[in-house]
Amino acid sequence: MKKYNFYAGPSILPAEILNEAAKAVQNLEGTGLSILEISHRSPAFTAIIQEAQELVLELTGLQGKGYKVLFLQGGASLQFLMVAQNLMRTKAAYLNTGRWSSSAIQEAQLFGEVIEVASSADKNFTYIPTDYSIAEDIDYFHCTSNNTVAGTQIKEFPTLQAPLVCDMSSDLFSRMLDYSKFGLIYAGAQKNLGPAGTTLVIIKESILGKVNRQIPTMLDYKTHLAKKSVFNTPSVYAIYVSLLTLRALKEQGGMAAIEKKNKKKATLFYQALDALPAFEGIVEAAARSLMNITFKLTDSSRQEEFDNTWQKAGFVGLKGHRSVGGYRASLYNAQPLENVERLIDLLNKF
Ligand code: PMP
Repeated sequence: MKKYNFYAGPSILPAEILNEAAKAVQNLEGTGLSILEISHRSPAFTAIIQEAQELVLELTGLQGKGYKVLFLQGGASLQFLMVAQNLMRTKAAYLNTGRWSSSAIQEAQLFGEVIEVASSADKNFTYIPTDYSIAEDIDYFHCTSNNTVAGTQIKEFPTLQAPLVCDMSSDLFSRMLDYSKFGLIYAGAQKNLGPAGTTLVIIKESILGKVNRQIPTMLDYKTHLAKKSVFNTPSVYAIYVSLLTLRALKEQGGMAAIEKKNKKKATLFYQALDALPAFEGIVEAAARSLMNITFKLTDSSRQEEFDNTWQKAGFVGLKGHRSVGGYRASLYNAQPLENVERLIDLLNKF
């Protein structure tokens, strides 16, 4: 039975990429060796990580602008800590838009003063605050571009003197942005890029070296920059599969083409939600995410009936996060339009 995968992460990967990734387990691109058994210092892997790093800069338009790309471990969760440890002298500003921003704030508080410029916690993170100001004397400003749990997305980013740091775990490579606005971008791979196990960090080198504290070797961005992301053994396989995604993104026409597809899918889905009396979106219209769409039944007594309906039809991963309830459809880059249309059909019939 065909499965329709709407998990929020780890999440759907294109069938062609899964095929190629499977082939590489037997024989990596004609080397006669498995991707699982080659040294991370071999010429084959060096070529893989370099190509991936170059493609990241190319797709984001950051080539030649002083940025470097790292593939680290520890997930986006470790970045909550590394960002603060590497960048915070005394104080930083944070925008609190959800579960993951809150975790980032908690870790940053270990290293200095955190100014929460605004929060949407008062309405269970169903909107993105826009009315706030950011002091000029901060070390950096941190925000979460897409809130995977709540289903909101920042549409416009502030322009600042201080570095803009962004957790783009659930919408990196999904839209056109002026990526040069950011001093540091990080994202766990397991949504729009590849399998879990590697975390992409794009960093403008000039923002480093401003703190006095001693940073443990593995947690210091400079360690990884100096060794081109192979200071120690990186997640070789996760990086390889991420490279396959990056190649496909380029072949498909880059950010402009992917944004167009993502807008089409999300618009269709929100239109259906707005038209059907049995369902309603959970978040404010202006903050609606193109990646994670949260919705609920208007009559919650029909929950069991609805759950049986989608589960029997082969849909997976539609349950909302426990802090939000309801449902969540994740429409990442790899989610085909056909799957979104099938889900809309299902809602229509229900
Ligand atoms: N930030 C965001 C926006 C996320 O969606 C997630 C994971 N769902 C995280 C951070 C945490 O990522 P990880 O599990 O890679 O630590």
